[in-house]
Amino acid sequence: APAIRIRDLVKRYTATGKSAGKLALDGVSFDVPQGQIFGLLGPNGAGKSTLINTLAGLVTKTSGQVEIWGHDIDHDVRNAKASIGIVPQEIVFDPFFTPAEVLNNQAGLYGVPKSMRRTMELLRAVHLADKANAYARSLSGGMKRRLLIAKAMVHSPPVLVLDEPTAGVDVELRRQLWELVSEMNHDGVTVVLTTHYLEEAEQLCDRIAIINHGKLIANKPTRELVDMA
Ligand code: ADP
Ligand code: ADP
Repeated sequence: APAIRIRDLVKRYTATGKSAGKLALDGVSFDVPQGQIFGLLGPNGAGKSTLINTLAGLVTKTSGQVEIWGHDIDHDVRNAKASIGIVPQEIVFDPFFTPAEVLNNQAGLYGVPKSMRRTMELLRAVHLADKANAYARSLSGGMKRRLLIAKAMVHSPPVLVLDEPTAGVDVELRRQLWELVSEMNHDGVTVVLTTHYLEEAEQLCDRIAIINHGKLIANKPTRELVDMA
């Protein structure tokens, strides 16, 4: 089975007094193969976050079907949730918690036995072992992003999804994050990320899908896509 299977996904945001109901996803279908780094590329407003938030359960789809690691997000929520880790775009941490505490709290939420060994293993994986007991407010932006990745991996999901992991970060940090994502993928994690940087998708991804105005307009191995351009 593919890591993620999406069929005829439609999301129409509810109309409010101020805005008409926006059709953010207009019948999207694709598979994310196991073991790959899969890039979802598109301009601002294309529907990328809506798609990621649907996988994360933060957005309720209007219609269509989504399976994560073979588990339907409507009918098999528990297994779907256990199979995916989400790195949101926004960085939100309580400033008075330490990375070790953040990861322990997350373990609690996911019913994972709390273990300092596991916490340190996760922190080492994102190169934050020396910051285990620093307050989150003292971490740099790059360290916070890496902590978010460790947090998403607490329950060892086979699929890691990152929403614009390098939006607004400098070149140096971008390369660090790319390396980290590659390392995770080498360790067997299927990765899905959204980006509006073509260069990022080219460098990092095995396969790229392009979304625009809520529709998938391409979905190809990176090499084929680059040869076309
Ligand atoms: P941004 O990512 O641009 O900062 P958010 O996604 O955080 O915006 O949205 C802020 C609030 O506005 C949320 O309540 C969201 O549901 C709502 N919102 C975002 N985009 C729109 C839109 N195009 N029309 C109506 N409401 C929106
Ligand atoms: P992207 O992540 O590719 O920038 P989004 O998924 O955030 O795109 O947005 C897709 C479309 O849906 C945009 O037109 C956006 O304004 C609209 N939108 C996003 N969130 C909301 C919301 N909460 N309510 C209404 N419209 C929204």
